[in-house]
Amino acid sequence: DRHPEPQYEPDPSKKTLVILGTGWGSVALLKKLDTENYNVIVVSPRNYFLFTPLLPSCTTGTIEHRSIMEPIRAILRHKTAAVKFYEAEASSIDPDRKVIKIVDNSEVKGATSETEIPYDMLVIGVGAENATFGIPGVREHSCFLKEIGDAQRIRKKIMDCVETAAFKGQSGDEVGRLMHMVVVGGGPTGVEFAGELQDFFDEDIKKLVPEISSHFKVTVIEALPNVLPSFSKQLIDYTENTLREEKIDIKTKTVVKNVTSNTVEAEITRPDGTKERVVIPYGLLVWATGNAVRPIVTDLVSRIAAQKDSRRGLAVNEYLVVQGTRDIWAIGDCAVAGYAPTAQVASQEGNFLGRLFNNMAKTENHEARIQELSSKMNLQAGNSAEAAHEIEALEKKLRKIKDIKPFRYSHQGSLAYIGSEKAVADVSWWNGNLATGGSLTYLFWRSAYLSMCFSTRNRVLVTLDWLKSKAFGRDVSRE
Ligand code: FAD
Ligand code: NAD
Repeated sequence: DRHPEPQYEPDPSKKTLVILGTGWGSVALLKKLDTENYNVIVVSPRNYFLFTPLLPSCTTGTIEHRSIMEPIRAILRHKTAAVKFYEAEASSIDPDRKVIKIVDNSEVKGATSETEIPYDMLVIGVGAENATFGIPGVREHSCFLKEIGDAQRIRKKIMDCVETAAFKGQSGDEVGRLMHMVVVGGGPTGVEFAGELQDFFDEDIKKLVPEISSHFKVTVIEALPNVLPSFSKQLIDYTENTLREEKIDIKTKTVVKNVTSNTVEAEITRPDGTKERVVIPYGLLVWATGNAVRPIVTDLVSRIAAQKDSRRGLAVNEYLVVQGTRDIWAIGDCAVAGYAPTAQVASQEGNFLGRLFNNMAKTENHEARIQELSSKMNLQAGNSAEAAHEIEALEKKLRKIKDIKPFRYSHQGSLAYIGSEKAVADVSWWNGNLATGGSLTYLFWRSAYLSMCFSTRNRVLVTLDWLKSKAFGRDVSRE
């Protein structure tokens, strides 16, 4: 069904709805939104949706990165009324003038690369950036794991470390350093990446480059007493035991304080409470210590008096309206609504806003019609019975529409891959909770993520990638 995209023509009688971001929150909103009711404009520096749960698999080539990307233009093509997309970053929001400034920060820039967009309604779904806590050396020397580019960088660097370690005459110490893959942060991102990396080594690198295999080691460094703090105790124990069986070293109660080009310096708290400073050499360092607030959000927070205590993002009310504003909503990782920063929360919030906006448009249409009928009734008394009947029906509909309940998150469970074809799951099951780990859970993990993929195209590509890497091994070429 490759019909051309309908042309975007703003209708002056409709409100302009600007949506920032093409992540989990904004795309869920776009999916639900009846775009005929508004002039919809989407602004994002990324012209695709990214299925983040499978991003760790791209770092080793188990899955190719394009299999988990869906172009936003392909998504928008299916909307009934055309939506305008600008590949740009929103650099500031002026809530008084109701305009946003946008900048094209991509490599190719035209004569115009900065402009303003006025809005009537604004949805902020810009996500978060990587937390570094100002620790020296992190930005310069480590890889993050948030975007496609990060996964590509890691994939390249793993193989660079391996090939450099195999270089003629490399000393034992240097091989040990190069083959030491350090992950800072034992949250789900760090744990899933460590599991994928160990799989890559056990299933492919070991066979292809056997001479360096005895030196390969993955270490996960976590500040808290255990990894996966958001999972149940039983699954934390299962995960830690499985990781240890996989020969992954877990250093808990260890806080990284400084990073250099080839070492991390950390402080370990011993069981007796004493502290020890250690220097850990590494070849690859992946930094996965969670989220920090984006500058555009910090800037907006500083412009709204009611947000003066907001530190972790934009405080929103139960309808996801940014506190202190009337026409700005925030969803996902940049909003503080009392939920964890997850894809599940972001997509439910986006979906909620889609329904809310559809309802708001219907309400306005019904109210306008009621207004029209009432004035007609006043002018020509003859047809008043019919009009009164219609008004009554519309008012009934309106009461129903206006009765929209506030947003409530419904937790479907947590899932994480932990390597060697095992996964852990804390899921809601028949009104109760089920905590499970192992190979069956891994099959569940695979099928759940496959079914959650954005499109059939993504599902087919991911399945083919899984089959390909199983049958032929992962591709170890360093692109
Ligand atoms: P994002 O999905 O991050 O989207 C933000 C969008 O805003 C992007 O398109 C970005 O380009 C755009 N943007 C950024 N700055 C600007 C700007 N200035 N102007 C305009 N647009 C901007 N959660 C789960 O529930 N389950 C999982 O299994 C899971 N796995 C994960 C694995 C990894 C490796 C990572 C990193 C995260 C994972 N998460 C998972 C968390 C989940 O991805 C996030 O909670 C989710 O992406 C948040 O959605 P969002 O829409 O708020 O932001
Ligand atoms: P996170 O915030 O969940 O975990 C970061 C970890 O880093 C924390 O445990 C913290 O104690 C540790 N840390 C912070 N500073 C440190 C330091 N200096 N030294 C050592 N350790 C340090 O971050 P994440 O794993 O990136 O996850 C971000 C969000 O995305 C979470 O809400 C998570 O649930 C979600 N997510 C979910 C999945 C999944 O469900 N499978 C996968 C990835 C991410």
